[in-house]
Amino acid sequence: MPRAIVIRRAEPADGTELMNTAAVEELPEPGPEAGPVLVDVAFSGINYKDALALTGRPGVVRRTPLVAGIDLVGTVRASEDVRWAAGDTVVLNGTGLSETVDGGLAEVARVAAGNLVRLPEGLTPARAAALGTAGYTAALCVLRLEDAGLATTPEQPVLVTGATGGVGSIAIALLAAAGHHVAALTGRADRYGDYLRGLGATSLVARAELEGPGRPLQSQRWSAAVDSVGGEVLANVLSQTRYGGTVTACGLAGSASLPASVVPFILRAVTLAGVDSVSASLPAREAAWARLARDIDPALLDALTETVPLTGAIDAAGRLLAGRTHGRIVVDVRA
Ligand code: NDP
Repeated sequence: MPRAIVIRRAEPADGTELMNTAAVEELPEPGPEAGPVLVDVAFSGINYKDALALTGRPGVVRRTPLVAGIDLVGTVRASEDVRWAAGDTVVLNGTGLSETVDGGLAEVARVAAGNLVRLPEGLTPARAAALGTAGYTAALCVLRLEDAGLATTPEQPVLVTGATGGVGSIAIALLAAAGHHVAALTGRADRYGDYLRGLGATSLVARAELEGPGRPLQSQRWSAAVDSVGGEVLANVLSQTRYGGTVTACGLAGSASLPASVVPFILRAVTLAGVDSVSASLPAREAAWARLARDIDPALLDALTETVPLTGAIDAAGRLLAGRTHGRIVVDVRA
């Protein structure tokens, strides 16, 4: 039987904190009721959300038991939907995987057809998984900034927060490839300064500089920003963004709160643009993946990617949440 990582609801003996369990299990192949497209999965990955689910945090997985994994890359074995045929290589991110429907940390999956993306030319399945939801979200953020007229200077670069993380790393690489001046905000400059410069960051900013409460209007340091951190950092980023600049918000790696004022919006015409990858439209997905295939240097991507077998995914999730990883983690589900 094919293997998968299954999240189950745990009943805590002492009645205190409710946690789920995650374990590699053998499951019967999913039947047609689970979706029209049967995929032999090759790779998945560990995103922040996967890390939460695999370490038992409730919140991501909305029903149990459920197969984990918000990403999958694989080959269609059979399809009842005319858009797909046996042999097609497909990428799927979000769309309820590991939230409401079985996800991609499995050797075999059955999925809906509507949000599948054909593997873009120039990307291998392993590299598509290395990009995964983090990379695809980074591309959505960059496209959003470009739609808003992104233009940077050495004095007012675009800021990327959570810089050593998955979203941050790929956002830096995409922005640098487009010729922008990119400032990387990180809590780990001592250890990862060379890594961030290698991605294309033109300057490094210590996370501590943007932590703590700040004035509603501060000096205009950033032309725009990609934020995956939230909290006081995002509030300070808004206060430091130049007149008319746009800040994309996609994450809460620091905090889900936003202790900000409306002053940057009403006096500097700053835009706070939300970015969601789970329910993005198919055209938005295809545009993001086309951009990744065009602009991400494969050697750079390989250098920021760690690959683990299915049995190593749960350990990797714990390391990600503990701040002991950087870049991206691919899961080779058949290894
Ligand atoms: P990672 O864990 O790979 O990266 C997060 C980074 O945030 C870390 O590497 C670290 O960077 C920084 N960070 C960690 N803890 C804190 C903290 N307490 N305060 C400030 N910064 C911190 O996660 P991903 O890149 O995969 O995801 C980042 C966020 O984006 C998550 O919240 C995730 O849920 C969200 N996300 C949302 C999506 C959407 O559709 N809206 C899609 C994808 C991700 P450094 O050490 O360099 O400071």
